[in-house]
Amino acid sequence: MEALKQKIRDEGIVLSEQVLKVDAFLNHQIDPLLMQQIGHEFAERFRDQGITKIVTIEASGIAPAVMAGLELGIPVIFARKFQSLTLKNDLLISKVFSFTKQSESTIAISAKHLNSSDHVLVIDDFLANGHAAKALLDLIGQAGASVAGIGIVIEKSFQEGRDLLESEGYRVESLARVQSLQGGKVSFRD
Ligand code: 5GP
Repeated sequence: MEALKQKIRDEGIVLSEQVLKVDAFLNHQIDPLLMQQIGHEFAERFRDQGITKIVTIEASGIAPAVMAGLELGIPVIFARKFQSLTLKNDLLISKVFSFTKQSESTIAISAKHLNSSDHVLVIDDFLANGHAAKALLDLIGQAGASVAGIGIVIEKSFQEGRDLLESEGYRVESLARVQSLQGGKVSFRD
């Protein structure tokens, strides 16, 4: 998606060879027009798949997921992160290792929002090693729902997330694929 790649070139900050900061339009300040275009692009790629729900993770997945949900006319569920959890019996729970925080957290969604008749599109802001996506897929599996695919705003193709998810049979659609962050410069794969 060219508009997204241009935004990354213009406003992305390479923090290290592993980490790209996009606080100017996605992770802190949000560019609503770009999010609308992102939502449209996800909807185009996954339309006619019989998707009934979008599942994402708080906080940075919410903006692109809501825009895709608006385009597809379906609800958006965001998994919530808990430091510690008072167990409640209607929660689906999984663990996720955070790439940026380098710590594990617990995520949960209420079982009442997802069930075996749902066909789900997973959306997230970044794909690195695939831990966040795997945790969301775990929650969806616990609900007995099926998965149409995984929509990623920014994929870092030099990390293993895509290979991991594709090896398990999932369709991965990324709107920008970063090949490398070496030398403080973002280069794209295609
Ligand atoms: P994964 O779970 O695939 O290893 O990492 C994806 C998650 O970590 C995303 O939800 C995102 O919040 C965060 N993340 C991974 N890499 C980056 C990065 O380079 N920049 C930012 N801002 N977040 C990242």
